[in-house]
Amino acid sequence: MSGITLETVRKEFDAGDEQIVAVEDIDLEIRDGEFLVLVGPSGCGKTTTLRCVAGLEDVTSGHIRFGDDDVTDLRARERDVAMVFQNYALYPHMNVKQNIGFGLKLSTQLSSAEIDSRVQDVAEMLGIEDLLGQKPKELSGGQQQRVALGRAIIRDPAAFLMDEPLSNLDAKLRSQMRTELQTLQHELDVTTVYVTHDQTEAMAMGDRIAVMNDGRLQQVGTAEAVYRSPVNEFVADFIGSPSINVFDVRVDGDRLVGPGGFDYPLSDTAPIEGYDRLRAGIRPEDIDLAADGIAIETQVLEPMGNENFLYATLGDREITARIDATARPQPGDVVTVDFAESSLYLFDPDTGESLK
Ligand code: ATP
Repeated sequence: MSGITLETVRKEFDAGDEQIVAVEDIDLEIRDGEFLVLVGPSGCGKTTTLRCVAGLEDVTSGHIRFGDDDVTDLRARERDVAMVFQNYALYPHMNVKQNIGFGLKLSTQLSSAEIDSRVQDVAEMLGIEDLLGQKPKELSGGQQQRVALGRAIIRDPAAFLMDEPLSNLDAKLRSQMRTELQTLQHELDVTTVYVTHDQTEAMAMGDRIAVMNDGRLQQVGTAEAVYRSPVNEFVADFIGSPSINVFDVRVDGDRLVGPGGFDYPLSDTAPIEGYDRLRAGIRPEDIDLAADGIAIETQVLEPMGNENFLYATLGDREITARIDATARPQPGDVVTVDFAESSLYLFDPDTGESLK
């Protein structure tokens, strides 16, 4: 296969007397061998999009292509994709070897010896060769997820479609499996679409990230691009932890005037021509303690070891800053902070669109 293309894909569901638009006219090109992460809040349409690509849902309108082939009307089993879900879906009465080999047994003419040999190869690749005789209930969550991956890999599909495959694992194992999965995907070089609601996971894993909200695709790009150049306030807010600080400001000549005495002179007013109010955003790590600047009142200081998270108020707004580990303002202390104009984000107050 050479990539997956979604052309104005739309999926509506009948819910009694109303139509739910789960996926609203998405155009997306997933490159051959790419690891693309589809990320967004709960209910934004990620799973439905993935199910449309898999052929588990019919699209309401639009087309899906695998390479040059239009697969829109093909059924799931005709599409040569392998899915991996959150709830592993292993057969409980079969051991690991049987679970991994089962699909191959059904779908190919391979002999038992050939299947055994491929199961062995895949199990070694995943580091589970010692578990082949065990039943799923005897395995840890991480081991079960490896078996589920093994079942997908052994089929040598044209694409992997993964829906929150790591979300049942504890934090440490999840982060370990992220790295393993990424390495494996790059080794196998199989086009992969990976769904998660976790932006940290998306940033860590994706060659590119596709951010969705409310059934619509917001932005597609590398982790750096969606982080540093978000197309709108939604993407700026969704990507990054702790989240970007955003507040309303009034434009007064070349100055932005906002909550708690916020008064920031701009050297470049070109992007905001014609606006008398805006939404202004500043990432926590772009805020620095400064001798002179904007006064904020400390609420809580969270030491992180290598840095501190400062939760403060700017007038009636809450504001978060990532500051030096040696700085120790106490609750109630007023500190002054500053930031570079280049790190300021400005959004249209009505559409949320980025202005610079
Ligand atoms: P989550 O992360 O919570 O799984 P999601 O982003 O994957 O969310 P979807 O599961 O794709 O979102 O759902 C998108 C919208 O479509 C939601 O409003 C959901 O309620 C609706 N929806 C999904 N499947 C159906 C269905 N079979 N019938 C009716 N509505 C559905």
